[in-house]
Amino acid sequence: MSKQTILIAGTGFAGVWAALSATRAIALAGREDDVEVVVVSPSPTMVIRPRLYEAVLENMNPDVSALLAAVGARYVAGLVEAIGATTQQATILRGDGGRETIAWDRFVLATGSRLSTPPIPGIADHAFDVDQLDSAQRLDEHLGLLAARTDEARGTAVVVGGGFTGLEGAAEMPERLRAILGKDAPIRVVIVDPAEQIAAEMGADAAVVVRGALDELGVEQRPGVRVTAVDAGGVTLSDGSRIDAATVVWSAGMRAHPLAGQVPGEHDATGRVLGDVYLRAPEASGIFVTGDTVKAATDDIGNFTVMSCQHALSLGRVAGHNAAAELVGLDLHPYSQPKYVTCLDLGAWGALYTEGWDRQVHLTRAEGKKLKQEINGVWIYPPAPEREAVFAVSNPDFVIVL
Ligand SMILES: Cc1cc2nc3c(=O)[nH]c(=O)nc-3n(C[C@H](O)[C@H](O)[C@H](O)COP(=O)(O)OP(=O)(O)OC[C@H]3O[C@@H](n4cnc5c(N)ncnc54)[C@H](O)[C@@H]3O)c2cc1C
Repeated sequence: MSKQTILIAGTGFAGVWAALSATRAIALAGREDDVEVVVVSPSPTMVIRPRLYEAVLENMNPDVSALLAAVGARYVAGLVEAIGATTQQATILRGDGGRETIAWDRFVLATGSRLSTPPIPGIADHAFDVDQLDSAQRLDEHLGLLAARTDEARGTAVVVGGGFTGLEGAAEMPERLRAILGKDAPIRVVIVDPAEQIAAEMGADAAVVVRGALDELGVEQRPGVRVTAVDAGGVTLSDGSRIDAATVVWSAGMRAHPLAGQVPGEHDATGRVLGDVYLRAPEASGIFVTGDTVKAATDDIGNFTVMSCQHALSLGRVAGHNAAAELVGLDLHPYSQPKYVTCLDLGAWGALYTEGWDRQVHLTRAEGKKLKQEINGVWIYPPAPEREAVFAVSNPDFVIVL
């Protein structure tokens, strides 16, 4: 008899932890001989997207092939092109250019999210971003080449978008430019956002801290304006003004991966599937949605997941466990993550750590930075490929933030 298959798309935070928790559940039920876990992604690496704004892009995509092998998951290099929501047959474009079909009994969508840029002239040709490893590397190469330039704009960078990514990128930029251009070179970093105030979405208290940090770092704040055009020499703003800049970094607008659009059912404005408490897509039999592709309730008082690694690490464990549990006869585990924290890197100033959905300020400056470095450098990395140790932390009720 052929094995039943759990097919997981993606080896990001959610996909890898889904594979670990699914194989754990199968092992718990003693069903390794009749249920297999197959993981598809373009490369057997976990890209550490939360660090892509950093100046040094080292160890940003740890290899997870030994980890997947250690728990008995099979890795296939390729892209899922079609989920096969009604046929339960997914089409895979393999890394070698060939196509194959994989029949599945349960499908876990963990393909994450993408920066979505608006149709503003010049973005595609002239703006950089730190959304994926290759785009972060392109920005890094560009910044490195500024040292050889002599024009005035070489020291100016405009960061578009005052969300988490934009704030972290802007706060890091003065130091990054000085390291390349020299400590006495003229530097100008501007953050632009249409909201009335920069960091408004952080909540009143945290926003004051963020704006103070940006002032201290010398980052100019331009709230209340939109970028209307980007060209090789800078940006034009909605108030008619212009900023000459060698570097424009776009950070506004995240959308769920396009494959989420193939999942029948309700989607939110960013394309995420509205998942049930077990992270099933309620209108698609056998499909689980996780990580940045799902919108799920984090508690019973009206809060929902945000596209974050913090949520993806738990969403992955729950989706993987439940996909396997349905096949091996274990209890399903409801997703719940009532504690919400944020830790925002603010470059040389330090970092800001908040707790709660109202983002109460808990740690700032060096204390916050110490925590951020622990989160970014240790906690979010995949574990060592040791089966029993991995299974000990792959349970669906594992608490990500204590
Ligand atoms: C610059 C930046 C800073 C951030 N900072 C923070 C932070 O401080 N804190 C925080 O919590 N979050 C942060 N985030 C958000 C966080 O990185 C994401 O929420 C997280 O990566 C989502 O995890 P995921 O597993 O759902 O998706 P991803 O990490 O995006 O992984 C998706 C996976 O799917 C694969 N894939 C894509 N297409 C296909 C396909 N067709 N078939 C198969 N596989 C496919 C990809 O190769 C990848 O392996 C940040 C993001 C960025 C870009």
